[in-house]
Order: sequence, then structure tokens, then C-alpha cells
Amino acid sequence: MTDKSQQFASDNYSGICPEAWAAMEKANQGHDRAYGDDQWTERAAQYFRDLFETDCEVFFAFNGTAANSLALASLCQSYHSVICSETAHVETDECGAPEFFSNGSKLLTAASVNGKLTPESIREVALKRQDIHYPKPRVVTITQATEVGTVYRPDELKAISATCKELGLNLHMDGARFTNACAFLGCSPAELTWKAGVDVLCFGGTKNGMAVGEAILFFNRQLAEDFDYRCKQAGQLASKMRFLSAPWVGLLEDGAWLRHGGHANHCAQLLASLVSGLPGVQLMFPVEANGVFLQLPEHALEALRSKGWRFYTFIGSGGARFMCSWDTEEARVRELAADIRSIVSA
Ligand SMILES: *Cc1c(COP(=O)(O)O)cnc(C)c1O
Repeated sequence: MTDKSQQFASDNYSGICPEAWAAMEKANQGHDRAYGDDQWTERAAQYFRDLFETDCEVFFAFNGTAANSLALASLCQSYHSVICSETAHVETDECGAPEFFSNGSKLLTAASVNGKLTPESIREVALKRQDIHYPKPRVVTITQATEVGTVYRPDELKAISATCKELGLNLHMDGARFTNACAFLGCSPAELTWKAGVDVLCFGGTKNGMAVGEAILFFNRQLAEDFDYRCKQAGQLASKMRFLSAPWVGLLEDGAWLRHGGHANHCAQLLASLVSGLPGVQLMFPVEANGVFLQLPEHALEALRSKGWRFYTFIGSGGARFMCSWDTEEARVRELAADIRSIVSA
């Protein structure tokens, strides 16, 4: 096995997909205007408006931590709070960036079921304290697909947004793996966002095959006021913006975004089907997106590592996480499954 072998530690182990690469190459012709004032950025924003069937405000950032943090900061004041799942990336993997960029808005963790918040868990946290000594809940953030590879159905989203409306909360969606959710459900992007009451979506490009880049879509346009200044101040305004936006054109113009998400999901299903039922192997969560979480005996984890496999055991609720990506090869999935089988059957 060489260092270039496909791994399942994260979907960001993969490289750049051909569609994104080709678009960047096309954008790399001559000179163009800077700071987002170019044709590529305009085209990418228009593709998003077409795809989402609405006149949303579109911004581009370098990564998901910035996109989430700045979006959340725009939805609340420093004395407000943000309700998220205890497994949310904003809580566990962003080094306090949401609190930092919002000048202190506190994250309040709520119980989740298979990685998903529920109207009840939101209500419980939102109504726990209503006195002036506690930061006032102002935003709910949900992750679609979730950190544990599950997916919110449109009805679940609508129930959450109804609760948000009732309690005066804005609704943000971390869509680092939004494409996987769309592919799994066969729903339109609009159905899973503004039609279900989502105010702001951070749409992940990196894990879908781009080198870098996330898009921030404000369906509630009022909330986007001065967001461009917020991005610039945070160091997120790319001066050669066309290289952040062109790959989106490549992904969106012929549906590559959805194909890639669907392919990664398919590989996760394949892995799950090959290992489920093996002795000592437990699927920890329903496999709906591109991740498979396995509870394995400690010796099996060790043995897998010594065979050269890389995977994380600290994401979500423990266990071993295996992520598939746009370019995952089925043969490699079968190799991994065969190694798991031989280790646990030994
Ligand atoms: C990968 C990921 C992000 C973005 O992370 P960055 O490393 O900051 O790009 C955001 N949310 C979730 C759920 C993720 O998995």
C-alpha cells in the first residue's frame, strides 16, 4: 500500500474532482476583476439562485468553520445564544470560532437523537432560563447531513422551524454535507432549506470535491446585511475570488454536486452492507449519508490501524468513523470490509 491509497478517515482526504478542476483551469485565463467582482462569481451566485429556486444572497468563504461562525454571528448579538446538538461541529470542532466571531454568543448544547435535534430538545434548552442572567437564545443550528451520518427529513425540518418561529429563533443549517442529504432523500435543495424554514445555509464545497470553499446562502435576505464586511474583516474575502467561485460553477452547471454526493452515499451503503452482521461489529447509526460508524472491539481497531487503515474514533459518539467521498473506489471499500471481516473473524 502506498501513501496515496484511498482512506476513509475523512471525506476531505480526497482530492479535487474533475469538474471543479476544469472550471478552475478555465478561470485561469488572463486577468479578471478581483474581490468577487468577476464573471465567475456572478455565474456561481446565479447557479445557486437557480438551483434553490429563490433570490437568495450568496457569499463565499474559504472553509466551513468560517462560514458557520460568520453566519451564526450575523444571526445574533453577543448577549444571545445558539442552540446546537452536543455533537455539532460548531461545538466540538471549531475551536470556539462561533463564540469568537460573534463576540461571545454562547453555544448551548441540546440533546440529540441519532445526531438530530428535535423540537422537544430545542424547547427544553430555549425555555430553561428566561431571566436576564442567562444569554438569550436566538438561533438554532442544525447539521444536514449530521455529524453521525444521519439526515433530517423535510417533516423534521418543518417541525424544528415551526418551533423556532414560535420561540423567536433563527434557523441556521451547517450543510458541510448538504449534497449527501439531497442525494439520500431525493429532495430538491429548496425543499430542504427555505421551503422548510431554514434562514441561512452553509453549503459545503470542500467535501463535495472542491479544493477549498463553502458558500453561504441567506434565504432571509435581511439577515445578510453587511455580511460582506463581516467576511472581509474575518479575512474571508478572497482577492482572487474567481478561484473560489469557479469550481462551484463546475459542480453546479451539470449536476456534478449531486452525483458526487450520491456516489459517496452509495459507497457508504456498500461498506455497511459488507460488514453488518459480522461478530462484534455494530452499526452505531443508520447509514443515510456518506459515513459509517462502527462499534468494534479495541483489538480490532488496533489491528486495522496496523494494517495501515486510517480512521477517527473521536467524532460523534465514539466508535470508528469511516467516510466515503466523491472518488471512493468500490474495490477499496471491499478491501476495507475484507480486512474488518478477517480481523473480527480471527
Ligand atoms: C468538515 C465540516 C465542516 C467544515 O470544516 P472546516 O474544516 O472548517 O472546513 C463543518 N461542519 C461539519 C459538520 C463538517 O463535517
